[in-house]
Amino acid sequence: MRAVTFQSPGVVAVEERPEPELSHPEDAIVRIEATGVCGSDLHIFHGRVQIEPGFTIGHEYVGTVIAAGDAVTRVAVGDRVLGCFQTACGTCFFCRRGDYHRCVESRTFGHGAALGGLQGTQAEEALVPRANLVLRRVPEGMSSDVALFAGDVMGTGFHAVVEGGVQPGDAVAVLGLGPVGLCAVQAARAVGAAQVFAIDSVPERLSVAESFGAHALHLGEQDVRAIVRDATEGRGADVCIDAVGDPQVLDSAIRMTRACGSVQCVGVYAERADVHMGLLWLKTLTLRGGQANVLGHVDRVLALMSAGLLDPSALVTHHMSLDQAPEAYATFDRREALKIVLTP
Ligand code: NAD
Ligand code: ZN
Ligand code: ZN
Repeated sequence: MRAVTFQSPGVVAVEERPEPELSHPEDAIVRIEATGVCGSDLHIFHGRVQIEPGFTIGHEYVGTVIAAGDAVTRVAVGDRVLGCFQTACGTCFFCRRGDYHRCVESRTFGHGAALGGLQGTQAEEALVPRANLVLRRVPEGMSSDVALFAGDVMGTGFHAVVEGGVQPGDAVAVLGLGPVGLCAVQAARAVGAAQVFAIDSVPERLSVAESFGAHALHLGEQDVRAIVRDATEGRGADVCIDAVGDPQVLDSAIRMTRACGSVQCVGVYAERADVHMGLLWLKTLTLRGGQANVLGHVDRVLALMSAGLLDPSALVTHHMSLDQAPEAYATFDRREALKIVLTP
């Protein structure tokens, strides 16, 4: 089968790989119908998150179950499914508390040996361990473009909002308007945020945020912090979401959040970053970060998407074939696309 593999920074290839085989009773094999290219894949593409050359990448996927182990009971061969970007055991200390994202046996698709050695989903087929927990049937009538957001990008935007503690009536600032930030904008509106400030410097992304009901603020052209302050009686945002993963963004978020508010980092950090602890202390801020608990949120996210309260369809700007992956990565890297969906 064909699969998209990481070669070296800036280079991905489409290569022949052996078809996956069931090796555990809870495994399933999914024939991929659609798979997304994500900002997290870009970290790998840039060499910031390091994986082995030749490893298959990708972790957003919709497809059909073509084989399932004896212990797979919640989906069956022939079902059209979507999956989460990582697996969990369901029984460890963390899983029993619902913190599936910290499961001691968690494996993330397409992130190399460091995150569990699970081959990615930008391929014709993918092996899905722990299929009872990781897979969901696609709700009747939902397109694959929409469904593939549930197990990663919308789940992450929703996580940022929920774990950030957004309350009805709040003022929320989202820094970074890639798909994750834009999903966070939608999720903030869906849970009742009264004001959502959406901050980036890419005009097309700012327009999408505006169409989702946010105040779009152009970084560099507007005094973003002053605007947020003036709109909140001088206090700052109740919750700031860093959807970039950049120390400068984190610093802005800490400055833009009101006293006793919270800063939620869903953007990836793979290195040490300076945090102005004095400011955080004086303002009594809560700072949280980490992988999103998509397994914990996926059913609620799917319900909200089925009801149309969350609708990521406007984020899909490009459809390309799996064979065009090198071009897709280059296009995405130039920020000319929001979400590229690859079709095997
Ligand atoms: P993306 O690369 O498409 O978007 C990032 C956006 O940030 C771009 O629009 C860029 O213009 C903007 N940006 C860059 N510097 C900025 C700054 N200083 N201020 C404001 N905006 C700035 O990425 P994405 O797919 O939306 O993902 C966003 C981040 O979330 C990535 O780091 C990704 O790896 C991460 N992510 C995390 C999880 C998780 O589990 N926590 C899941 C999925 C993605
Ligand atoms: Zn992703
Ligand atoms: Zn576990």
